[in-house]
Amino acid sequence: MVLLDRTYVRTLDDIVTRYASEAPGTLLEFWTFDNVSHRKAAEQAFMEHGLHARVHSAYKPLLHYFLEDVDRTGLKSIEIIYPTHPDCAPDRFLLETYPLPAIFDGIDVRFSADGTGGLNGFVYVVRLCRTDGREETIVVPAPNRRYVDHTGSAVVTSAGWMRVRTPDGMITEQWLKTEYESIFLDAVASVSEHPWGTTEPFFDTMAIKVSVPVDDVPLPLGEEVISLREAMHEELYFSLLEVFQIKTGRPISDRTIRPGQVVPDIAPGEIPSLRIELLPLRMPDVEGASGTLDTMTDPIAASQVAVVMEQLGGRIFRASARSGRQVLGSYHPGSDAAVMISGGQHANETTGVVGALRAARELARRPGSHFEVSPLENPDGYAVHGELCVTNPRHMHHAARYTALGNDLEYQDDAHLYEKALRVEAQRLSDAKLHVNLHGYACHEWTRPLTGYIPRGFPTWMLPHGFFLLLRHHESWSRFANDFMDRLTRRMATVPGLLSFTQGQLELYARFVGTPPFRIINGFPCDLSINETSTIPLRLITEYPDETIHGAAFVAGHTAQKEAVLAAYEIFQSMQADMPVREVVA
Ligand SMILES: [Zn+2]
Repeated sequence: MVLLDRTYVRTLDDIVTRYASEAPGTLLEFWTFDNVSHRKAAEQAFMEHGLHARVHSAYKPLLHYFLEDVDRTGLKSIEIIYPTHPDCAPDRFLLETYPLPAIFDGIDVRFSADGTGGLNGFVYVVRLCRTDGREETIVVPAPNRRYVDHTGSAVVTSAGWMRVRTPDGMITEQWLKTEYESIFLDAVASVSEHPWGTTEPFFDTMAIKVSVPVDDVPLPLGEEVISLREAMHEELYFSLLEVFQIKTGRPISDRTIRPGQVVPDIAPGEIPSLRIELLPLRMPDVEGASGTLDTMTDPIAASQVAVVMEQLGGRIFRASARSGRQVLGSYHPGSDAAVMISGGQHANETTGVVGALRAARELARRPGSHFEVSPLENPDGYAVHGELCVTNPRHMHHAARYTALGNDLEYQDDAHLYEKALRVEAQRLSDAKLHVNLHGYACHEWTRPLTGYIPRGFPTWMLPHGFFLLLRHHESWSRFANDFMDRLTRRMATVPGLLSFTQGQLELYARFVGTPPFRIINGFPCDLSINETSTIPLRLITEYPDETIHGAAFVAGHTAQKEAVLAAYEIFQSMQADMPVREVVA
């Protein structure tokens, strides 16, 4: 069933058609969601009509100003006053300049907030100082639109914009609704207005095919890239989940919703288009990488996961995902204290899958080892990840994060256990008191450009900040947990390259976030919290910045995950005498 299928006129073509006959001497300025080459071509088209026009980027306008307009020759220092507004986070416009200081390495870059509370409007004030003593102050507009979005929230967000100055000095400016914004707004309206009934799931797969004439622009810093296509995926995916959260009376960011599988696939294409179609659950899988585990440079094929699980030699047990794909567990009884190991809960976090298998293979060789491993907990999400990587191998693909029901498997309830049934069985078999749950997060900036830039519900995760460790524990395990984390982070600091990689990311992160919302223990960002609801007293969650990575970076990622499992396992064994007594006798 097709909900919507339409094409759009390119905004850059449209503005040339509409404004090329303005009076000579008129100054035209536009802000659109386009690559610089296309924006320059539109400026040229105006020039051929005898008009002077500038077309700026509506997305990250200050960063684009520096990339496109600033001459670096003799540049000594940059001072930037960024705007603030009562309807957005105080650092919103600072975040939008990320990762400017790292790109202008060696130049003193300083930021400060405009203290007028939005009175100056949406502009950056930039002061450039050069070694020959020259100084200039430039005002860089960052047009934003304030509107009430699909969640009922007032948002201040990037927007297409136009400003016309006639030869007699009259200035008019207004929102220029671009094709990029129209695609998003139409998709949200179409899904919001559809009569879905009251019974979840509402569909099997909602396939959203978008084509936009933009290419990714890699930045000279790690995995950083300016990607309007990736941003569209993120904006559509999370916005549509929000539509269903509201429809079903749940809070925004609720992870128990079960609308079905929402899959936005954003391809490059000359003609902007949007098609929303309801399809059966997706089969078959796109085959992933296979080869030697230790040197795997891309996400592993699900078929090879199954082969390695057989080779481990433990007792295989299974659960079924919504599609019927099998979730595999392997239980290895032994004389050690049992540990549960899992990966792939969020299936776009791909280093944990390989890391869990590598660690399990190592443990399986050790006499007395006692563990359960389920390296790929969310096979339906993983299949979506494989499919989306065909078009965009370096995007975050959060549509692969949740299950085919659209929920986080950890939040599945007893009536709809699906993938989570494996965890329940793993705990029953092993009676483990420690669960090592391998996760990852975005290895480059994660944005939602059309609903206020900062990903709603995930502000901590929008910028990479190294290998992050979370420990959730029962209150009676507090002393144990602190000691465990101290030993674990000391051990992780011995993994070649991991601490310096983490420090490098933390340094840039701190320039944008101020006081980070986490502790640093032995050089690693950590979060320890009490959680009495967990059925396991100690749950270690690793977060490696792995979404989007391949090659040597991917190998470094699954190596860190493997080392974290082995370190946690060994430290847990060595601390058995320190276990809270109540838990031991329980
Ligand atoms: Zn995760």
